[in-house]
Amino acid sequence: MKDNSVLIHCCCAHCTAYTVDYWRRQGYEITAFWYNPNIHPFTEHQHRLEAMRSLAKEFKFPLIINERYDMIEYFNRVVGHEDRRCRYCFQIRLEKTAETALKNGFSSFASSLLISPHQKHDMLLEIGNTIAEKKGIDFLNADLRKHYSDSRRMTKPLGLYRQQYCGCIYSEWERFAGEKQ
Ligand code: SF4
Repeated sequence: MKDNSVLIHCCCAHCTAYTVDYWRRQGYEITAFWYNPNIHPFTEHQHRLEAMRSLAKEFKFPLIINERYDMIEYFNRVVGHEDRRCRYCFQIRLEKTAETALKNGFSSFASSLLISPHQKHDMLLEIGNTIAEKKGIDFLNADLRKHYSDSRRMTKPLGLYRQQYCGCIYSEWERFAGEKQ
């Protein structure tokens, strides 16, 4: 891989569209990476993965899919610490991205999560930078939150599956029962 190669963790097709386009325009050779054991239930995970596959095909970018669905590891970290669940959730996914990037010779990693105004942006930066330092690989980041709607405009003509909640079963509960824990 070249010095400008980046492995981009993708949380969903709709956040990925603008993100991959942005890093491409910055001159990076991009590859998308799917690893999201925080998406429950499994059928929902599969719907979102299918949307990602379609996006990769339409936008012509390579996509690495980690076939493991480590839902049990997710719950092992989160149960009993639900108030900190997003921290663990970001760690699990970004750690796996950095490890996969290193294993495959990428010079950096990034995440589509950084485009979302619904995610904890500063926490993502802190976790990404800590992992980068620990593992010896660059973490690319840019505040793309003002382009969140642009990204959705890019995917709209494709008619891809669109999720109604963040991912975990807790967020599904909050979304549909109006609960906030
Ligand atoms: S709310 Fe979203 S970011 Fe937080 S733990 Fe659930 S899936 Fe992960």
